[in-house]
Amino acid sequence: MDTVLLSRQNLQHQSSGRATILVRLGARSDQLTYEPGDHVGVHPANHEQEVERLLARLEDQPALNDLVCVQRRQDRQTAQGKVQSWVQDTRIPPCTLTQALTHFLDICSTPTCDLLQHFAQLAGDSSDKKQLEILSQGGSRFEEWRWEKNPTVAEVLQEFPSVCAPACLLLSQLPLLQPRYYSASSSPHQYPGEIHVTVSVLEYRTGGGTGPVRQGVCSSWLNRVSTGDSVLCFIRRAPLFHLPADPSAPCVLVGPGTGVAPFRGFWQQRQIDIERGQNPCNMMLVFGCRYSDKDHIYKEEMIEAKNRGALREIHTAYSREQEQKVYVQDIIRKNLSQEIFQLLDSQAGHLYICGDVTMAQDVSQTIHEIVAAQAHLSPSEAAAYIIKLKDENRYHEDIFGITLRTHEVTTKIRSTSFTFWQESTIMTGCS
Ligand SMILES: Cc1cc2nc3c(=O)[nH]c(=O)nc-3n(C[C@H](O)[C@H](O)[C@H](O)COP(=O)(O)OP(=O)(O)OC[C@H]3O[C@@H](n4cnc5c(N)ncnc54)[C@H](O)[C@@H]3O)c2cc1C
Repeated sequence: MDTVLLSRQNLQHQSSGRATILVRLGARSDQLTYEPGDHVGVHPANHEQEVERLLARLEDQPALNDLVCVQRRQDRQTAQGKVQSWVQDTRIPPCTLTQALTHFLDICSTPTCDLLQHFAQLAGDSSDKKQLEILSQGGSRFEEWRWEKNPTVAEVLQEFPSVCAPACLLLSQLPLLQPRYYSASSSPHQYPGEIHVTVSVLEYRTGGGTGPVRQGVCSSWLNRVSTGDSVLCFIRRAPLFHLPADPSAPCVLVGPGTGVAPFRGFWQQRQIDIERGQNPCNMMLVFGCRYSDKDHIYKEEMIEAKNRGALREIHTAYSREQEQKVYVQDIIRKNLSQEIFQLLDSQAGHLYICGDVTMAQDVSQTIHEIVAAQAHLSPSEAAAYIIKLKDENRYHEDIFGITLRTHEVTTKIRSTSFTFWQESTIMTGCS
């Protein structure tokens, strides 16, 4: 789906040192259909500087405007014996090398052991060759190196300057650049033809905080694209994270930080429902962030939603405003145990949890404890109670898969691609 960037706004205060952006996307055609709670898959582009850095190290490059296409050699056993043919790789459409490295290939993740093995074979210097061979064995040396530097492909080629890497090797061996998912942060009824996302712009230092600064591919790209530029994306339905079919069912929404993203769509939808004359349900928001003045994203919108009856209660945990850190699960345990239990137990209410996996586990643990205490159940009976809530589709989780897990997933995807691409490949200019 082709959308256009309508606007971008940093929701955090400058002094926070972090950026969380509200990105408004507008559909170029009228095919935008989604519900609050659904996900948007965004196809990002790699940073121009990273692409240029890599291009500067590649051998055998086609001319700038030449289209390239990748072909794979296929061996077939026939009655006449083994026949070899070249079949076109459909992973990447015919495009220039720069386009392939910008839009289609993952050039920012650390190369896998298989690619390092190729680099070792192509190294002219014996010391480079030896080190690359050691790294390509995987194991603790590779893991330490990756943890310390998390190097991109260009950085690996910089570290081992004697490697002559042909463009065709990377075109055939690099994994595809994956889309990133974001929760829809708007209601299509409040903003027809638009879809909003709330994105935490990822920036970190490798080596546990001592290495070079790294930026997340997609979040930094969304923070860079200009108004009016195209953003290719698609909707992924999340039917298990939609508002209850019965609009009068009460809901508790737990979403600290960017975990509040889908709930903005929920309260916008409820505002529309109220305007249309429906009876609003009791919707309670439990939000958390570090500081009230720097990180409380959508503060005014939350207050407005409360004034308009879409949110009945807002509870906020500011984790850094007192000596001992306070998180959403702490205020749930301390102030809301009874209310949440009653809502789930006697009012057929729904619980929604959105955010990173650690928070979701902590909140889940707290809810188990609350159920056990309020209903006088053993831990295993409380667990069975929660499973029943899930079976009844009243306990909803939307877990972002913390960034470190994203890396594991990417690694898995890469190794799968490698198995597929073991066969010889060739790049041909076909402009
Ligand atoms: C269903 C779903 C919904 C989501 N919804 C949202 C949402 O609404 N808003 C939102 O902001 N995000 C959301 N995410 C997360 C989002 O999809 C991306 O993972 C996130 O934006 C990072 O992508 P990126 O391309 O910027 O970073 P990438 O380039 O993918 O970089 C991430 C990688 O950086 C590395 N990394 C990160 N931090 C560190 C560190 N401290 N030390 C070492 N390495 C590190 C890890 O290897 C990690 O895999 C969601 C994810 C899922 C699965």
